[in-house]
Amino acid sequence: MASSAPAATTPRIAIIGAGPGGLVLARLLHLASIPFSLYEAEPSRTSREQGGSLDLHEESGQLALHAAGLHSEWKKIARSEGEDMRVADKHGKIFMEEVDSQGGGRPEVDRIQLRALLLDSLPEGMIQWGHKVRSISPSSDGDGKHEVHIETASGPRTETFDLVVGADGAWSKVRPLLSDTKPHYSTISCLDTRIRSVDTLHPVISKLVGQGAYFAFSDRRGLVAQRNGDGSIRTYIMLQKPETWLKEVGVDWSDAHAAKNFMLDQEYKDWNEELKSLIAHANPDIVPRSLYMLPTDFSWTSKPGLTLLGDAAHLMTPFAGEGVNMAMVDALDLSKAIAKAGSEGENTTLFDAIKAFEESMLERSHEKMEETWRNLELFFRPDAPKEFVQAFEEMMAAHGPPPEVPKAYS
Ligand SMILES: Cc1cc2nc3c(=O)[nH]c(=O)nc-3n(C[C@H](O)[C@H](O)[C@H](O)COP(=O)(O)OP(=O)(O)OC[C@H]3O[C@@H](n4cnc5c(N)ncnc54)[C@H](O)[C@@H]3O)c2cc1C
Repeated sequence: MASSAPAATTPRIAIIGAGPGGLVLARLLHLASIPFSLYEAEPSRTSREQGGSLDLHEESGQLALHAAGLHSEWKKIARSEGEDMRVADKHGKIFMEEVDSQGGGRPEVDRIQLRALLLDSLPEGMIQWGHKVRSISPSSDGDGKHEVHIETASGPRTETFDLVVGADGAWSKVRPLLSDTKPHYSTISCLDTRIRSVDTLHPVISKLVGQGAYFAFSDRRGLVAQRNGDGSIRTYIMLQKPETWLKEVGVDWSDAHAAKNFMLDQEYKDWNEELKSLIAHANPDIVPRSLYMLPTDFSWTSKPGLTLLGDAAHLMTPFAGEGVNMAMVDALDLSKAIAKAGSEGENTTLFDAIKAFEESMLERSHEKMEETWRNLELFFRPDAPKEFVQAFEEMMAAHGPPPEVPKAYS
Protein backbone atom coordinates (compact mmCIF):
# COMPACT_ATOMS: atom_id res chain seq x y z
CA MET A 1 0.00 0.00 0.00
CA ALA A 2 1.41 3.43 -0.91
CA SER A 3 1.40 6.03 1.88
CA SER A 4 -1.02 8.17 -0.17
CA ALA A 5 -2.11 8.41 -3.82
CA PRO A 6 0.73 9.87 -5.88
CA ALA A 7 0.04 13.01 -7.92
CA ALA A 8 0.48 12.74 -11.70
CA THR A 9 4.03 14.16 -11.60
CA THR A 10 5.11 12.42 -8.40
CA PRO A 11 7.55 9.56 -9.03
CA ARG A 12 6.38 6.13 -7.89
CA ILE A 13 8.96 4.99 -5.33
CA ALA A 14 9.51 1.48 -3.95
CA ILE A 15 11.66 0.82 -0.89
CA ILE A 16 12.71 -2.83 -0.65
CA GLY A 17 13.47 -3.81 2.95
CA ALA A 18 12.38 -2.52 6.37
CA GLY A 19 15.76 -2.72 8.12
CA PRO A 20 17.16 0.42 9.81
CA GLY A 21 18.01 2.01 6.43
CA GLY A 22 14.62 1.37 4.78
CA LEU A 23 12.72 2.45 7.91
CA VAL A 24 14.61 5.74 8.29
CA LEU A 25 14.01 6.51 4.61
CA ALA A 26 10.31 5.68 5.00
CA ARG A 27 10.00 7.92 8.05
CA LEU A 28 11.72 10.86 6.30
CA LEU A 29 9.69 10.54 3.07
CA HIS A 30 6.51 10.25 5.15
CA LEU A 31 7.42 13.48 7.01
CA ALA A 32 8.00 15.17 3.63
CA SER A 33 4.61 13.87 2.33
CA ILE A 34 6.36 11.96 -0.47
CA PRO A 35 4.46 8.74 -1.23
CA PHE A 36 6.17 5.34 -1.51
CA SER A 37 5.59 1.60 -1.18
CA LEU A 38 7.66 -0.32 1.39
CA TYR A 39 8.02 -4.09 0.92
CA GLU A 40 9.42 -6.33 3.66
CA ALA A 41 9.96 -10.07 3.26
CA GLU A 42 9.46 -10.90 6.94
CA PRO A 43 5.85 -11.73 7.81
CA SER A 44 5.56 -9.36 10.80
CA ARG A 45 7.50 -7.06 13.12
CA THR A 46 7.97 -9.86 15.65
CA SER A 47 9.01 -12.64 13.30
CA ARG A 48 12.77 -12.43 13.87
CA GLU A 49 15.07 -12.06 16.85
CA GLN A 50 16.76 -8.70 16.29
CA GLY A 51 20.36 -9.11 17.44
CA GLY A 52 22.52 -7.16 19.84
CA SER A 53 23.28 -3.67 20.95
CA LEU A 54 24.32 -0.85 18.57
CA ASP A 55 26.11 2.42 19.19
CA LEU A 56 24.73 5.32 17.19
CA HIS A 57 27.27 7.93 16.19
CA GLU A 58 26.57 11.67 16.42
CA GLU A 59 27.66 12.40 12.87
CA SER A 60 25.59 9.62 11.22
CA GLY A 61 22.99 7.49 13.04
CA GLN A 62 22.06 10.25 15.49
CA LEU A 63 21.98 12.86 12.73
CA ALA A 64 19.36 10.77 10.90
CA LEU A 65 17.33 10.45 14.11
CA HIS A 66 17.38 14.25 14.56
CA ALA A 67 16.04 14.75 11.03
CA ALA A 68 13.42 12.06 11.63
CA GLY A 69 12.23 13.89 14.77
CA LEU A 70 13.07 10.85 16.89
CA HIS A 71 16.25 11.91 18.68
CA SER A 72 14.63 12.83 21.99
CA GLU A 73 12.62 9.56 22.03
CA TRP A 74 15.82 7.65 21.28
CA LYS A 75 17.65 9.41 24.12
CA LYS A 76 15.13 7.88 26.56
CA ILE A 77 16.21 4.37 25.53
CA ALA A 78 19.90 5.04 24.86
CA ARG A 79 22.43 3.79 27.41
CA SER A 80 25.48 6.08 27.82
CA GLU A 81 27.03 3.61 30.25
CA GLY A 82 27.00 1.13 27.31
CA GLU A 83 29.98 3.05 25.90
CA ASP A 84 32.29 1.45 28.48
CA MET A 85 34.73 -0.96 26.88
CA ARG A 86 37.76 -3.07 27.53
CA VAL A 87 40.13 -4.66 25.05
CA ALA A 88 42.08 -7.68 26.31
CA ASP A 89 43.97 -10.74 25.15
CA LYS A 90 43.24 -14.42 25.83
CA HIS A 91 44.81 -14.18 29.30
CA GLY A 92 42.47 -11.35 30.26
CA LYS A 93 45.35 -8.87 30.19
CA ILE A 94 43.77 -5.47 29.56
CA PHE A 95 45.30 -3.45 26.71
CA MET A 96 42.75 -0.66 26.59
CA GLU A 97 40.05 0.45 28.99
CA GLU A 98 37.39 3.12 28.83
CA VAL A 99 35.00 3.00 31.77
CA ASP A 100 32.64 5.60 33.22
CA SER A 101 33.05 7.25 29.83
CA GLN A 102 29.48 8.59 29.67
CA GLY A 103 29.17 11.45 27.24
CA GLY A 104 31.50 10.02 24.58
CA GLY A 105 28.72 10.65 22.06
CA ARG A 106 28.10 7.02 21.10
CA PRO A 107 25.45 5.62 23.46
CA GLU A 108 24.21 2.06 22.94
CA VAL A 109 20.69 0.98 22.12
CA ASP A 110 19.32 -2.53 21.73
CA ARG A 111 18.55 -3.19 18.07
CA ILE A 112 15.05 -4.36 18.99
CA GLN A 113 14.33 -1.00 20.67
CA LEU A 114 15.69 1.04 17.78
CA ARG A 115 13.55 -0.97 15.38
CA ALA A 116 10.44 -0.45 17.54
CA LEU A 117 11.12 3.31 17.65
CA LEU A 118 11.29 3.46 13.85
CA LEU A 119 8.32 1.15 13.26
CA ASP A 120 6.13 3.09 15.68
CA SER A 121 6.97 6.33 13.86
CA LEU A 122 5.15 5.12 10.74
CA PRO A 123 1.37 4.94 10.31
CA GLU A 124 -0.21 1.49 10.66
CA GLY A 125 -0.32 -0.34 7.31
CA MET A 126 2.54 1.58 5.70
CA ILE A 127 4.87 -1.45 5.73
CA GLN A 128 3.79 -4.31 3.50
CA TRP A 129 4.94 -7.27 5.60
CA GLY A 130 5.28 -10.70 3.98
CA HIS A 131 6.12 -9.13 0.58
CA LYS A 132 9.30 -10.78 -0.62
CA VAL A 133 10.77 -9.25 -3.77
CA ARG A 134 11.73 -12.11 -6.09
CA SER A 135 13.28 -10.05 -8.89
CA ILE A 136 13.33 -6.67 -10.59
CA SER A 137 13.37 -6.08 -14.34
CA PRO A 138 13.46 -3.00 -16.59
CA SER A 139 9.96 -2.02 -17.72
CA SER A 140 9.11 -1.91 -21.41
CA ASP A 141 7.78 1.62 -20.71
CA GLY A 142 11.45 2.77 -20.58
CA ASP A 143 12.36 6.05 -18.81
CA GLY A 144 14.17 4.14 -16.09
CA LYS A 145 10.96 2.47 -14.90
CA HIS A 146 11.30 -0.99 -13.35
CA GLU A 147 8.93 -3.82 -12.60
CA VAL A 148 9.17 -5.28 -9.13
CA HIS A 149 8.06 -8.91 -8.91
CA ILE A 150 6.80 -9.71 -5.44
CA GLU A 151 5.83 -12.94 -3.70
CA THR A 152 2.92 -12.53 -1.23
CA ALA A 153 0.75 -14.92 0.78
CA SER A 154 -2.03 -14.36 -1.76
CA GLY A 155 0.20 -15.06 -4.78
CA PRO A 156 2.70 -13.23 -6.98
CA ARG A 157 2.29 -9.54 -7.84
CA THR A 158 4.11 -7.12 -10.14
CA GLU A 159 4.25 -3.33 -9.64
CA THR A 160 5.98 -0.69 -11.77
CA PHE A 161 8.04 2.12 -10.20
CA ASP A 162 10.06 5.17 -11.28
CA LEU A 163 12.58 4.59 -8.50
CA VAL A 164 13.42 1.31 -6.75
CA VAL A 165 15.53 1.69 -3.60
CA GLY A 166 17.41 -1.43 -2.55
CA ALA A 167 17.47 -1.25 1.24
CA ASP A 168 17.40 -5.04 1.27
CA GLY A 169 20.68 -5.81 2.95
CA ALA A 170 23.57 -8.16 2.18
CA TRP A 171 21.90 -10.22 -0.53
CA SER A 172 20.08 -7.37 -2.25
CA LYS A 173 17.86 -8.15 -5.24
CA VAL A 174 18.44 -4.62 -6.56
CA ARG A 175 22.26 -4.69 -6.54
CA PRO A 176 22.61 -7.20 -9.45
CA LEU A 177 20.93 -4.67 -11.76
CA LEU A 178 23.72 -2.21 -11.00
CA SER A 179 26.76 -4.46 -10.63
CA ASP A 180 27.96 -8.04 -11.13
CA THR A 181 29.97 -7.89 -7.90
CA LYS A 182 28.78 -10.22 -5.15
CA PRO A 183 29.69 -10.14 -1.44
CA HIS A 184 32.68 -12.31 -0.56
CA TYR A 185 33.53 -14.18 2.63
CA SER A 186 35.37 -11.89 5.06
CA THR A 187 37.49 -14.73 6.59
CA ILE A 188 35.46 -14.59 9.83
CA SER A 189 33.08 -17.26 11.10
CA CYS A 190 31.04 -16.56 14.19
CA LEU A 191 28.72 -18.07 16.77
CA ASP A 192 26.17 -15.58 18.09
CA THR A 193 25.38 -16.50 21.73
CA ARG A 194 23.42 -15.07 24.69
CA ILE A 195 23.62 -15.38 28.47
CA ARG A 196 20.38 -14.16 30.07
CA SER A 197 19.74 -12.84 33.62
CA VAL A 198 23.45 -12.41 33.98
CA ASP A 199 23.38 -10.22 37.13
CA THR A 200 21.55 -12.81 39.18
CA LEU A 201 22.80 -16.06 37.62
CA HIS A 202 26.38 -15.16 36.63
CA PRO A 203 27.71 -12.22 38.69
CA VAL A 204 31.33 -12.96 37.70
CA ILE A 205 30.48 -12.62 34.00
CA SER A 206 28.40 -9.54 34.78
CA LYS A 207 31.41 -7.91 36.44
CA LEU A 208 33.81 -8.98 33.69
CA VAL A 209 31.76 -7.39 30.89
CA GLY A 210 30.56 -4.43 32.97
CA GLN A 211 27.96 -2.06 31.50
CA GLY A 212 29.43 -1.93 27.99
CA ALA A 213 31.52 -4.27 25.88
CA TYR A 214 34.51 -6.56 26.44
CA PHE A 215 36.66 -7.49 23.45
CA ALA A 216 39.23 -10.28 23.78
CA PHE A 217 41.42 -11.19 20.81
CA SER A 218 44.37 -13.58 20.42
CA ASP A 219 45.59 -16.22 17.95
CA ARG A 220 43.11 -15.30 15.18
CA ARG A 221 40.19 -15.79 17.55
CA GLY A 222 37.98 -13.38 19.43
CA LEU A 223 35.28 -13.12 22.07
CA VAL A 224 33.20 -9.96 21.77
CA ALA A 225 30.80 -9.67 24.71
CA GLN A 226 28.33 -6.81 25.02
CA ARG A 227 25.71 -5.97 27.62
CA ASN A 228 22.19 -5.57 26.30
CA GLY A 229 19.44 -3.47 27.88
CA ASP A 230 17.38 -6.56 28.81
CA GLY A 231 19.89 -7.86 31.38
CA SER A 232 21.54 -10.30 28.99
CA ILE A 233 25.04 -10.46 27.60
CA ARG A 234 25.55 -11.28 23.94
CA THR A 235 28.87 -12.85 23.02
CA TYR A 236 30.08 -13.23 19.47
CA ILE A 237 32.57 -16.11 19.33
CA MET A 238 34.63 -15.17 16.27
CA LEU A 239 37.28 -17.15 14.45
CA GLN A 240 39.34 -16.57 11.34
CA LYS A 241 38.63 -19.70 9.33
CA PRO A 242 38.04 -20.86 5.74
CA GLU A 243 34.62 -20.12 4.25
CA THR A 244 33.30 -23.68 4.54
CA TRP A 245 34.65 -24.29 8.06
CA LEU A 246 31.35 -23.94 9.93
CA LYS A 247 29.78 -26.57 7.68
CA GLU A 248 32.72 -28.92 7.39
CA VAL A 249 34.29 -28.98 10.85
CA GLY A 250 31.89 -31.73 11.90
CA VAL A 251 29.96 -29.97 14.69
CA ASP A 252 26.16 -29.80 14.77
CA TRP A 253 25.79 -26.13 15.81
CA SER A 254 22.14 -26.67 16.73
CA ASP A 255 23.41 -28.92 19.57
CA ALA A 256 24.52 -26.20 22.02
CA HIS A 257 26.28 -28.69 24.30
CA ALA A 258 28.38 -30.02 21.42
CA ALA A 259 29.05 -26.51 20.08
CA LYS A 260 30.27 -25.20 23.46
CA ASN A 261 32.38 -28.27 24.18
CA PHE A 262 34.04 -28.02 20.80
CA MET A 263 34.93 -24.37 21.34
CA LEU A 264 36.14 -24.95 24.91
CA ASP A 265 38.15 -28.12 24.20
CA GLN A 266 39.54 -27.25 20.77
CA GLU A 267 39.51 -23.59 19.82
CA TYR A 268 39.67 -21.71 23.15
CA LYS A 269 41.46 -24.40 25.18
CA ASP A 270 44.26 -22.12 26.44
CA TRP A 271 42.10 -19.04 27.14
CA ASN A 272 41.66 -17.93 30.73
CA GLU A 273 38.85 -19.50 32.74
CA GLU A 274 36.86 -16.29 33.16
CA LEU A 275 36.81 -15.70 29.40
CA LYS A 276 35.93 -19.33 28.78
CA SER A 277 32.91 -18.90 31.08
CA LEU A 278 31.39 -16.63 28.38
CA ILE A 279 31.24 -19.74 26.20
CA ALA A 280 30.44 -22.27 28.92
CA HIS A 281 27.34 -20.40 30.16
CA ALA A 282 25.86 -19.53 26.76
CA ASN A 283 22.14 -20.31 26.53
CA PRO A 284 21.07 -23.01 24.03
CA ASP A 285 20.01 -20.62 21.23
CA ILE A 286 23.35 -20.39 19.42
CA VAL A 287 23.35 -19.01 15.87
CA PRO A 288 26.27 -19.74 13.50
CA ARG A 289 27.08 -16.95 11.00
CA SER A 290 29.64 -16.51 8.24
CA LEU A 291 30.46 -12.83 7.81
CA TYR A 292 30.44 -11.49 4.25
CA MET A 293 31.53 -8.13 2.85
CA LEU A 294 31.66 -6.18 -0.39
CA PRO A 295 35.05 -5.01 -1.72
CA THR A 296 36.08 -1.86 0.15
CA ASP A 297 36.05 0.13 -3.12
CA PHE A 298 32.73 -1.26 -4.34
CA SER A 299 30.85 1.12 -6.62
CA TRP A 300 28.62 1.10 -9.67
CA THR A 301 27.66 3.34 -12.57
CA SER A 302 24.42 5.15 -11.76
CA LYS A 303 21.37 4.03 -13.73
CA PRO A 304 18.01 5.80 -13.91
CA GLY A 305 15.34 4.33 -11.68
CA LEU A 306 17.54 2.37 -9.26
CA THR A 307 19.65 3.01 -6.18
CA LEU A 308 21.00 1.27 -3.06
CA LEU A 309 21.58 2.18 0.56
CA GLY A 310 22.92 0.51 3.70
CA ASP A 311 24.29 -3.02 3.53
CA ALA A 312 23.00 -3.40 -0.03
CA ALA A 313 25.43 -0.62 -1.04
CA HIS A 314 28.38 -1.25 1.27
CA LEU A 315 28.15 -4.50 3.23
CA MET A 316 30.94 -4.59 5.80
CA THR A 317 31.78 -6.64 8.90
CA PRO A 318 30.94 -5.20 12.35
CA PHE A 319 34.54 -4.34 13.31
CA ALA A 320 34.11 -0.57 13.24
CA GLY A 321 30.44 -0.51 14.35
CA GLU A 322 29.49 1.52 11.27
CA GLY A 323 26.93 -0.60 9.36
CA VAL A 324 23.75 0.69 10.99
CA ASN A 325 25.10 4.23 11.23
CA MET A 326 25.91 4.30 7.51
CA ALA A 327 22.50 2.82 6.58
CA MET A 328 20.73 5.55 8.57
CA VAL A 329 22.74 8.49 7.24
CA ASP A 330 22.41 7.11 3.67
CA ALA A 331 18.63 7.20 4.16
CA LEU A 332 18.84 10.80 5.37
CA ASP A 333 20.84 11.88 2.31
CA LEU A 334 18.65 9.94 -0.12
CA SER A 335 15.48 11.49 1.32
CA LYS A 336 17.00 14.93 0.74
CA ALA A 337 17.94 14.02 -2.85
CA ILE A 338 14.41 12.79 -3.62
CA ALA A 339 12.86 15.88 -2.03
CA LYS A 340 15.24 18.18 -3.94
CA ALA A 341 14.32 16.65 -7.31
CA GLY A 342 10.62 17.00 -6.50
CA SER A 343 10.68 20.57 -5.22
CA GLU A 344 9.14 23.44 -7.15
CA GLY A 345 11.52 25.61 -9.19
CA GLU A 346 14.26 22.97 -8.90
CA ASN A 347 15.83 21.95 -12.22
CA THR A 348 17.54 18.84 -10.85
CA THR A 349 16.09 15.64 -12.32
CA LEU A 350 15.52 12.65 -10.05
CA PHE A 351 18.36 10.85 -11.84
CA ASP A 352 20.80 13.75 -11.28
CA ALA A 353 19.85 13.98 -7.62
CA ILE A 354 20.29 10.22 -7.10
CA LYS A 355 23.63 10.26 -8.93
CA ALA A 356 24.93 13.01 -6.64
CA PHE A 357 23.64 11.09 -3.60
CA GLU A 358 25.44 7.93 -4.75
CA GLU A 359 28.74 9.75 -5.30
CA SER A 360 28.88 11.19 -1.80
CA MET A 361 27.52 8.02 -0.17
CA LEU A 362 30.14 5.86 -1.85
CA GLU A 363 32.97 8.20 -0.88
CA ARG A 364 31.83 8.14 2.76
CA SER A 365 31.27 4.40 2.84
CA HIS A 366 34.63 3.55 1.24
CA GLU A 367 36.36 5.25 4.15
CA LYS A 368 34.31 3.22 6.67
CA MET A 369 34.75 -0.04 4.74
CA GLU A 370 38.51 0.45 4.74
CA GLU A 371 38.55 1.26 8.46
CA THR A 372 36.44 -1.84 9.13
CA TRP A 373 38.76 -4.05 7.09
CA ARG A 374 41.83 -2.60 8.83
CA ASN A 375 40.29 -3.36 12.23
CA LEU A 376 39.47 -6.93 11.18
CA GLU A 377 43.07 -7.48 10.12
CA LEU A 378 44.40 -6.05 13.38
CA PHE A 379 41.96 -8.00 15.59
CA PHE A 380 42.79 -11.31 13.97
CA ARG A 381 46.58 -11.13 14.03
CA PRO A 382 48.30 -13.77 16.16
CA ASP A 383 49.64 -11.04 18.50
CA ALA A 384 46.29 -9.23 18.80
CA PRO A 385 45.17 -6.96 20.31
CA LYS A 386 48.56 -5.18 20.56
CA GLU A 387 48.65 -3.64 17.11
CA PHE A 388 44.97 -2.69 17.16
CA VAL A 389 45.48 -0.69 20.35
CA GLN A 390 48.57 1.01 18.87
CA ALA A 391 46.67 1.89 15.67
CA PHE A 392 43.71 3.19 17.69
CA GLU A 393 45.93 5.40 19.82
CA GLU A 394 47.68 6.77 16.73
CA MET A 395 44.32 7.51 15.09
CA MET A 396 43.04 9.35 18.18
CA ALA A 397 46.26 11.38 18.34
CA ALA A 398 45.97 12.30 14.66
CA HIS A 399 42.24 13.05 14.43
CA GLY A 400 41.12 13.89 17.96
CA PRO A 401 37.54 13.28 19.12
CA PRO A 402 34.70 12.61 16.60
CA PRO A 403 33.22 15.62 14.72
CA GLU A 404 30.41 17.66 16.25
CA VAL A 405 26.82 17.45 15.04
CA PRO A 406 26.16 20.26 12.54
CA LYS A 407 24.53 23.28 14.22
CA ALA A 408 21.26 22.85 12.29
CA TYR A 409 20.59 19.68 14.29
CA SER A 410 21.97 20.59 17.69
C1 LIG B 1 26.88 -10.16 13.92
C2 LIG B 1 26.66 -8.73 13.48
C3 LIG B 1 26.87 -7.69 14.37
C4 LIG B 1 26.70 -6.36 13.97
N1 LIG B 1 26.94 -5.35 14.84
C5 LIG B 1 26.84 -4.06 14.44
C6 LIG B 1 27.14 -2.99 15.31
O1 LIG B 1 27.49 -3.18 16.47
N2 LIG B 1 27.02 -1.72 14.84
C7 LIG B 1 26.61 -1.45 13.56
O2 LIG B 1 26.51 -0.27 13.17
N3 LIG B 1 26.32 -2.45 12.70
C8 LIG B 1 26.42 -3.74 13.10
N4 LIG B 1 26.14 -4.75 12.23
C9 LIG B 1 25.76 -4.41 10.85
C10 LIG B 1 24.30 -4.00 10.78
O3 LIG B 1 23.50 -5.04 11.26
C11 LIG B 1 23.91 -3.67 9.34
O4 LIG B 1 24.87 -2.82 8.77
C12 LIG B 1 22.54 -2.98 9.27
O5 LIG B 1 21.53 -3.81 9.80
C13 LIG B 1 22.23 -2.61 7.82
O6 LIG B 1 20.93 -2.08 7.74
P1 LIG B 1 20.12 -2.18 6.38
O7 LIG B 1 18.81 -1.53 6.62
O8 LIG B 1 20.96 -1.70 5.25
O9 LIG B 1 19.95 -3.75 6.10
P2 LIG B 1 19.29 -4.90 6.98
O10 LIG B 1 19.33 -4.58 8.42
O11 LIG B 1 19.93 -6.18 6.52
O12 LIG B 1 17.77 -4.89 6.53
C14 LIG B 1 17.37 -5.37 5.27
C15 LIG B 1 15.88 -5.70 5.32
O13 LIG B 1 15.48 -6.08 4.00
C16 LIG B 1 14.67 -7.22 4.08
N5 LIG B 1 14.79 -7.94 2.79
C17 LIG B 1 15.88 -8.61 2.34
N6 LIG B 1 15.64 -9.14 1.13
C18 LIG B 1 14.36 -8.79 0.81
C19 LIG B 1 13.54 -9.05 -0.30
N7 LIG B 1 13.97 -9.78 -1.34
N8 LIG B 1 12.27 -8.55 -0.31
C20 LIG B 1 11.81 -7.80 0.73
N9 LIG B 1 12.55 -7.54 1.83
C21 LIG B 1 13.82 -8.02 1.86
C22 LIG B 1 15.21 -8.00 5.26
O14 LIG B 1 14.26 -8.90 5.77
C23 LIG B 1 15.56 -6.87 6.23
O15 LIG B 1 14.47 -6.54 7.06
C24 LIG B 1 26.30 -6.08 12.63
C25 LIG B 1 26.05 -7.14 11.74
C26 LIG B 1 26.24 -8.45 12.15
C27 LIG B 1 25.99 -9.57 11.16
